[in-house]
Amino acid sequence: MMRKDYEMYYNERLSQCEVCLNKRIDKKSNCGIYEEKPDYVLNSEKECLKYSSENPLVINSDNIEFLALLGGIFGFCIGDVLGVPVEFLPREEMKKNKVNEMRAYGTYDQYFGAWSDDTSLTLCLIDSLRNGYNITDIADKFMKFYYRNLWTPFGEVFDIGNRTALSIEQMAMGVKPAECGGNKESDNGNGSLMRVLPLAYYLKNFEPLKKIEIIKEVSSLTHSHKRSILACIFYVEFAINLLMKKSKSEAYKNSVIFVKEYCISDYKSEFCYFERILNGKADELKEEEIMSGGYVIDTLEAVIWSFLNSEDYKSSVFSAVNLGGDTDTTGAITGGLSGIFYGFDNIPDNWVQILARKKDIYSLLEQFYDSRQEF
Ligand SMILES: [Mg+2]
Repeated sequence: MMRKDYEMYYNERLSQCEVCLNKRIDKKSNCGIYEEKPDYVLNSEKECLKYSSENPLVINSDNIEFLALLGGIFGFCIGDVLGVPVEFLPREEMKKNKVNEMRAYGTYDQYFGAWSDDTSLTLCLIDSLRNGYNITDIADKFMKFYYRNLWTPFGEVFDIGNRTALSIEQMAMGVKPAECGGNKESDNGNGSLMRVLPLAYYLKNFEPLKKIEIIKEVSSLTHSHKRSILACIFYVEFAINLLMKKSKSEAYKNSVIFVKEYCISDYKSEFCYFERILNGKADELKEEEIMSGGYVIDTLEAVIWSFLNSEDYKSSVFSAVNLGGDTDTTGAITGGLSGIFYGFDNIPDNWVQILARKKDIYSLLEQFYDSRQEF
């Protein structure tokens, strides 16, 4: 779609009350209904008291497993959306104007509800897993994202990591999927960690070594260095523990034990980089000790720290995004854990309603759920 087309598409799906037309006038950052614009309002669509979605997603399910799927994936997508407008802003900038409500525009000039590559690739993985695990098919979906805008919010790819792009280009040239990932030490961005959450649902009941094998293969599509793979293993195991209804501290502890037990032979050389996670005290770190750029270890620490120190979904993703840096990814990965733990109902409803293609995502999750005999 051209930008003009999806502007129409957007307005149609999220049309506004007569007062708030959600239009920027002469590049002003709000629609002008407020005499004094609240700090958090960049564009007032969702803060307009008269706003209501004409096309709301209403969930009527009491199926606990399905709700945990909705919680994790919607929690992930919405954490991404929250971080997109402020991606790359340093922490000092964030502190001057903290994110404390949903925003739009900003870094990529995207509409409300726009998600980034993290969500696109996560949805591509689900799209593939609903037909069972097939690494070639996952690679195929990734190529369709990159070249044909599959699972993009408004029909265009506006953000993609360098390493991910390079790996997908190699897939397109016919390189075997599992050999496309970067394996140098400098290839340890968070590009695979940001898209593996669906594996938690798929692998929940798998044997440990089989789990590890599949996580390794999926990470290796774009990131095949052991550090990236181990980060994915830790995160997926953490999410699985939350799906098993463990408490936050138990889930953390169990994930540490899992990694120490099952990854010692192949990944021991990487353990030193995970020291502040594997010592079981990541939640005690001070904010200034938490980095929040694109390095996979920094991201994993920021996610665990934000999640363990949160009291609800909202506070966890605010905490993650306000760290600055790679805000969409930190927000998304934190939001995934929080959405599982605090539940779909704990995600603010107006955030769910502004999510681009929310009904398409819901329908994909239904299909994924139905394809699995048990989660
Ligand atoms: Mg992103």
